[in-house]
Amino acid sequence: MSDLLDKIVSLSKRRGFIFQSSEIYGGLGAVYDYGPLGVELKRNVQARWWQAMVYQHDNIEGLDAAILMHPTTWKASGHVDAFNDPMIDDRQSKKRYRADQLIEEHIARLRRQGQDEHADAVHRRFVEALHADDMPRALYEIIMDEQIRAPDSGAFDWTEVRQFNLMFETQLGALAEGNNTIYLRPETAQGIFVNFLNVLNTSRQQIPFGIAQIGKAFRNEIVARQFIFRMREFEQMEMQYFVRPGDQMEAYEAWREKRMQWHLDNGIRPSRLRWHRHDKLAHYADAAHDIQYEFPIGWQEIEGIHSRTDFDLRNHQAYSGKKMEYFDPQTRERYIPYVVETSVGLDRTILMLLCEAYREEEVEGDQRVVLKFHPQVAPIKAAVFPLVRKDGMPEIARAIEADLRTVFNVMYDEKGSIGKRYRRMDEAGTPFCITVDGDTLADGTVTVRDRDSLEQVRVSQDRLLPYLHDRMRAWTPAD
Ligand code: ATP
Repeated sequence: MSDLLDKIVSLSKRRGFIFQSSEIYGGLGAVYDYGPLGVELKRNVQARWWQAMVYQHDNIEGLDAAILMHPTTWKASGHVDAFNDPMIDDRQSKKRYRADQLIEEHIARLRRQGQDEHADAVHRRFVEALHADDMPRALYEIIMDEQIRAPDSGAFDWTEVRQFNLMFETQLGALAEGNNTIYLRPETAQGIFVNFLNVLNTSRQQIPFGIAQIGKAFRNEIVARQFIFRMREFEQMEMQYFVRPGDQMEAYEAWREKRMQWHLDNGIRPSRLRWHRHDKLAHYADAAHDIQYEFPIGWQEIEGIHSRTDFDLRNHQAYSGKKMEYFDPQTRERYIPYVVETSVGLDRTILMLLCEAYREEEVEGDQRVVLKFHPQVAPIKAAVFPLVRKDGMPEIARAIEADLRTVFNVMYDEKGSIGKRYRRMDEAGTPFCITVDGDTLADGTVTVRDRDSLEQVRVSQDRLLPYLHDRMRAWTPAD
């Protein structure tokens, strides 16, 4: 892991953003818990997504489908037969890697070394391999021919490439015999597809319309070493947009633009985001792009925007025997809608926000660690301090705290020097610190200290809320 990621992992634990699951028992690999600050960050991101997708579009409806679904769902979706990753093992370190990722990293390395022609040739071969009938073999041959070494041990001592299914299985009920295997859903999307008719019939929507959902998904990821980047239990925020066949490209382009804008609106710098077009389209997709962020571990996917044709609805129709058609009252046409999907990982968005916000700076000769979150996602919006614990200052500070609490999450802190209290709030990413001091007693003003610029201004107590709102609205990311 990179230095920056290590620092974020340790800050997350120290300050209560993210803990390893069941840590007292030694932890559970690639499963994490959100602590008091982390859960606030997460809820803010969820709320912003819901706001941008559901509340700002009168043709998008929300849904909350169950994690457990009828097992035929996963036959119809293709996950039982084809939700595999090609894996390869380093015999020396016993570590397992995704074969496709090793090759992608090799190509990126060649480009960094200025060997563009060679990189292009490997890339062409890689795309062919992804489409080959015996994909594992084709990937294996590239690794052999290019002599790609194991990233951790440096060894060139590989097993064959093998396919692993990523779905978690469990048993329904107590019966031992019979086929009662069910799965923890590996994506939230299928909960939307199987409810397409229910939502259509109860919401009075007409095509085009969308269904949005936030929820847990589970994948038995084989390689899971990068903190919350790749987890076995994670959360997705997905929206399926149903359109008339033929209209999908227009919708696809419109959603690409909106989804990129959403990340920018969360305070991510444009230079850290880019588009990545899929080399291999799933057989049912007619276009697919990812939004990538420049993580400390390199450029990686945070969101996929996919044009999925009518693949899912058509298969659910075939497997369930229920007609998944839409009747257009204007044109009197009947058809299975096409689908444009936007699918973003909530936890990956959190990791991106942490990476983007993390800064080490020198302030008056002291080193400070500060999380420069967009105020709208910051776990705590403001902290209120009495300068000293006497002269009525705590009472005034408590009153301000109570007042602000009705609007957003705030914190009261009277322990330690003002400098220490500022540092604690910098690490939590709190954009504003409000101090009640001697002048407050005289003229009713307080000091508001800005986390990013360190600027301190005096604001009258009764103007505090509109002042904070204005400042939050005007916020822009620092370089
Ligand atoms: P990857 O190639 O990284 O495995 P994917 O292409 O399989 O991801 P999708 O199935 O398109 O991912 O899922 C949509 C989003 O869900 C991803 O962009 C990512 O943000 C998130 N996601 C997928 N798998 C995980 C995971 N194991 N842990 C955390 N987030 C995940």
